[in-house]
Amino acid sequence: MKSIIKRGITLRFTISLLVIAAILLTMLTSITSALQVNRTSLIDNYLNKNESYSKKLAFNTNELLTTMQENIAAIASISVRGNELNPQMIDDLYQANREYFNSIVIADADRVVQAYSPQDIGISIGDKLNSKQSKEAVILKNSFISEPYRTTNTDRLIILVSAPIVDHEGNYKGFVGGTIYLEEDNVLSTMLRKHFFGDGSYVYVVDKNGDLIFHSEQARVGQHIKNEAVETVISGQSGSRKITNTPGKIFLVGYAYEPKSSWGIVSQTPYEVINQPLRQLVQRMLLHAMPFLLLILVLAWWIASRIAKPLNTLAQFSDEAMLNPVSAPNVPDIHSYYYEVSLLSRSVKIALQSMNRDLTNLRHKVNIDGLTGLVNRRGFDSLIAEWIESKPSFILILFDIDHFKQVNDTYGHVVGDAVLRYLAQLMQQLLSNEDIAFRYGGEEFGILVRHGELDRAKALADRLRAQLASTISPTGQPITVSAGISSFPAHGQTAEELVMRADEALYDSKENGRNKTTVFMVKELQKLDR
Ligand code: GH3
Ligand code: MG
Ligand code: MG
Repeated sequence: MKSIIKRGITLRFTISLLVIAAILLTMLTSITSALQVNRTSLIDNYLNKNESYSKKLAFNTNELLTTMQENIAAIASISVRGNELNPQMIDDLYQANREYFNSIVIADADRVVQAYSPQDIGISIGDKLNSKQSKEAVILKNSFISEPYRTTNTDRLIILVSAPIVDHEGNYKGFVGGTIYLEEDNVLSTMLRKHFFGDGSYVYVVDKNGDLIFHSEQARVGQHIKNEAVETVISGQSGSRKITNTPGKIFLVGYAYEPKSSWGIVSQTPYEVINQPLRQLVQRMLLHAMPFLLLILVLAWWIASRIAKPLNTLAQFSDEAMLNPVSAPNVPDIHSYYYEVSLLSRSVKIALQSMNRDLTNLRHKVNIDGLTGLVNRRGFDSLIAEWIESKPSFILILFDIDHFKQVNDTYGHVVGDAVLRYLAQLMQQLLSNEDIAFRYGGEEFGILVRHGELDRAKALADRLRAQLASTISPTGQPITVSAGISSFPAHGQTAEELVMRADEALYDSKENGRNKTTVFMVKELQKLDR
């Protein structure tokens, strides 16, 4: 019989699952924390790098502006000599300074152009400069670096670095202006563009209003920029921070304030650059962990099997034993290193052994007559069926106590029962181990004789009768029995036929005066003889 319980989830599977889940969870935790730590340090790195880089650029810019102002001041002091300012000379001065300025203009106190270089900048000698910045230069009579502005004459976006021209008597004579063309290649862009990284980082410079003076995309020069970094840097502070721009892109930004010009220099790196090293980190971690992971998984499976095996064997065995106790083999010896299984195994063993013992006893009892201890009718039925199947020949003898009713009537049923026990005992004494005595029912008994020789069987029945005749029964008198004999297979092929024939013979014994033995065959012959 097969177990009807669904297989379901096994202990081995559960333990393995537990171990695997624990390992995966541990790995996940370590990868997550490694990512976290690395992300933080990468962010700090980029912020620091951008901050120190922008500071360095601010310093360079400061030096550059200082040099530019000194050079313009030098030109102004040369200009004081006035008549020496021929076109050739201003061209020479421009050539000497062309790495700093896009053009040089000299104007008098009324902002009228006196000289300029190079020649193709779109103004002429005698033009009046009308920009707010040239007016400022004349009013302030001082060195300054202007904010970006568009020239009225040529519509260029420029920055003016100017120095006053003052004669020996201290009279203001005008100013020298060196220009930076913001929308074209200029000293700033040359310096800043040198520094480019492959990772998408870039630099831009804003003036004190937040307008772009320099940007890697030249077209953006002049645009207004508004973000936390720019707001902070133009308020005069340097530092770094993570910002999100208007389209939602995140940057790691470092910024530095340049005090001479009030510009802000910003160096920034797109946040996404840290994803690549983080991805590599995860891949590396997984790659390194993989062999160990596989090893641990195999180990986990093995350990789970070891733990589950004894329990599984025990469970399988008890399941089978419960369903099919007769064929249940002896309880297997289950070796386990842990206490619970040993305990369980011992209990199952004891329980099954005692169950088997009880069952055997019960089976035995079912086939035994309670009064006499002989095989009962039920036992006889199964024995004779078995013998018919397995034996080439055997003999059935049936006995019936003569006048037993009288025994009961005379001495009572207790004595009657004693007589039945007495007869049974006598039969047992007489029989060989091979033959089987049984109580057919009431005061009818029988013997299954293993061999098929009728003469020997009849002699056995006669011996029993002789024994009874010479022995005192519990009544105080000997008792007698009548016997009938049939033989397998000669007198019948089935149990029923054999019992019927033996019964007929027994009847004949009663008919013929009791205390007789009749063999069925013999009776038939006798009938034929008559
Ligand atoms: P016969 O010689 O023709 O066999 O006469 P008999 O008196 O034996 O007749 P019968 O076989 O009809 O009687 C059987 C009696 O056996 C009837 C019943 O009271 C008695 N008996 C049957 N079983 C038991 C038993 O277990 N104990 C006792 N004490 N008596 C039993
Ligand atoms: Mg009877
Ligand atoms: Mg009788």
